[in-house]
Amino acid sequence: MAVPDCFFVKTSGLFFVSLVLAVAARAADLPNIVFILSDDVGYGDVGCYGANQVKTPHIDRLAREGTRFTDAHSTGSVCTPTRFAFIGGRYAWRQAGTGIAPGNATLLISPETPTVASVLKQAGYQTGIVGKWHLGLGTTTPDFNTDLKPGPIELGFGYSFIIPATGDRVPCVFVENHRVVGLDPADPITVSYGKPLGNEPTGLTHPEKLIIKADRNHSQAIVNGVSRIGYMTGGKAALWKDEDIADTLARKSVAFLERQKSGQPFFLYLATHDIHEPMVPHPRFRGTSGCGWRGDVIHQLDWTVGEVLKTLDRLGFAKNTLVIFTSDNGGAIKNTYDDGTNHLHALQPPNGILRGNKGQLYEGGHRVPFIARWPGKIPAGAESAALMGHVDMMRTFAALTAQKIPAGAAPDSVDVSAALLGRKGAKGRESLVLQNNGQSPLALRVGAWKLLQKPNGASELYNLATDLTEKQDVAAKEPERVKAMTAQLAAERAKSGQ
Ligand code: CA
Repeated sequence: MAVPDCFFVKTSGLFFVSLVLAVAARAADLPNIVFILSDDVGYGDVGCYGANQVKTPHIDRLAREGTRFTDAHSTGSVCTPTRFAFIGGRYAWRQAGTGIAPGNATLLISPETPTVASVLKQAGYQTGIVGKWHLGLGTTTPDFNTDLKPGPIELGFGYSFIIPATGDRVPCVFVENHRVVGLDPADPITVSYGKPLGNEPTGLTHPEKLIIKADRNHSQAIVNGVSRIGYMTGGKAALWKDEDIADTLARKSVAFLERQKSGQPFFLYLATHDIHEPMVPHPRFRGTSGCGWRGDVIHQLDWTVGEVLKTLDRLGFAKNTLVIFTSDNGGAIKNTYDDGTNHLHALQPPNGILRGNKGQLYEGGHRVPFIARWPGKIPAGAESAALMGHVDMMRTFAALTAQKIPAGAAPDSVDVSAALLGRKGAKGRESLVLQNNGQSPLALRVGAWKLLQKPNGASELYNLATDLTEKQDVAAKEPERVKAMTAQLAAERAKSGQ
């Protein structure tokens, strides 16, 4: 029997409609992702990881409603290497020149490189970064008076509002998409990481202009009464005010969320300035912690997290949003700056019981708070000892969004989504390489064992299952294990021709 032509028209039309609906349903099922990377917040710096001096109710709420990971690592123990590893799923030590970047560094990641942002963009996500970048801009020494590219936009972020480097480095301006915000063309910016610029006052020559004292390394250009690393002139109308940075980043994050539409997934990478130095809390947070300005900026950070959570609730996004809160390296009590409250800073021990601090290979350098919340998908109020690092987010987010990573990309990233989602028996990675600042030395985790290489070529070995505080170096008792782990680390290095 002949089938009327109109049958095909109808069925193909229905097929088309159902296909569209299926795609729409899939897009609606994809989780929004908000990745909050705080700065220099130690393992013991938030309430749900044992801090009892500072109060972090919003971060603690995330832990109550999500899972608290106890063996998550920042991959690097300082800013730039961790951010490099997070963005591209590749250990920073594989590439020379990826230590702490100056404020006029060129882009450290080639724009052709697939990134955590480009993979999500390819999955249909609206992608945005708000906050500290610290991975360089441009292909030649950046001119802050022109378009600054390539940068985050060229690496897959549809929207970008960044601090180019750090708060303690010039230039002290925000960059929105490709341009410095609020720059008066009649007052161009000049930046130098070599010679001083003219007779501009510096922290060394004009200490009377400082509102907080600084060590010699941070005693160059004076901006807002705070001396920095590097020299800068011009751009007066564009300079940020240190005490307003957290408010600005929160406002930009909220605005990004408000621009999103239901049914189209989004990815927000919020990299806070808090609690990096200089720690200049907004006046409303000063004195609230009893632990000096270091504790006060932890309160400010917690407020920022609260603003994001409140906005997700208000806009109806919370249920289908994966929120991760973590830190880019361990904490430290430092005397880089002296704000007059330094004597109180140590009342809040940054890394709890862990040995070492920011910049070191001991656990205090890189074991960081890591909390993940996704209502109905990630167990609430749970704890996980799965081993993972920020370097794993690229493959993990790709897995959660059914995206393929191009061959050769994200070589060090492991899909830890099973552990993130709390699947029974999921233990995260088998092994993980950790670095301080630079190509060497490194540390290697294999299960509970940790091989730590010293600058003098010697190795230490710890069993973190029984000795989390790294008090007992058992390298001499376990020569075979040291040999095997040294060989494994050498094999990792060899992958990148080192
Ligand atoms: Ca940092």
